[in-house]
Parts: sequence; C-alpha cells; structure tokens
Amino acid sequence: MIATKEQLAAAKLRRIAERQSLELKLQKHLNSIPVSFRLRMQKVFLGTATPKQIIRATCEECCGYEDVKDRVKNCSAWQCPIHKTRPYQSTNQDQGENASESQT
Ligand code: SF4
Repeated sequence: MIATKEQLAAAKLRRIAERQSLELKLQKHLNSIPVSFRLRMQKVFLGTATPKQIIRATCEECCGYEDVKDRVKNCSAWQCPIHKTRPYQSTNQDQGENASESQT
C-alpha cells in the first residue's frame, strides 16, 4: 500500500510530537535530580557522557542521590551488571588499612 501525502505528513507530525513528548519527560526528570548531580545525567541523556560518567550517573540515581558514596561503596547487589565497575570501591589505601587492621 502506498501512503498518501496526508498520511506521510500525519506520520511526520506524530514523530515530532513523540520526540517533543520524550524531551519534555527527560527535562522533567532532569529537574527532579539534585543540582549537584544534574549535569552528569544531562550528559548521559545528550549522549555525550563517557562510559565512566554513565556508570557513575547510574549508581547515583540508583541510590536516590543520598549518601551516594557510602551506598555505592557498600553496594552488595553483585547481580547488577555494573557492580564490578561501580565507583567508590575500596582503594588500595583502604585495602592496606583493612589489611593492617586485620593483622592487629
Ligand atoms: S552497582 Fe549498586 S549502586 Fe550501582 S547501579 Fe548497581 S545496584 Fe545500584
């Protein structure tokens, strides 16, 4: 079946409306994010974030933007696809401190 000019125009208008609706939803979501975390998530939505920024933004959102460092560091959701690459994991310094604590 060949689409008429009117059908093509209607389909184009629907796509524009859907895109505008999505942009409004994204903007509304961004406005709900605390300011200090918003820029990183904005980059994620724009497609300009690095993989590291995407992972960090995902963990920040997962933690509800509260106590992010502690929650992510102590995250026990090993089944999460980004668990092994999450930020704030124990540093070598922490591991050294833990090792020395366990020896005493
Ligand atoms: S690693 Fe933990 S904090 Fe990060 S997204 Fe997964 S479950 Fe959430």
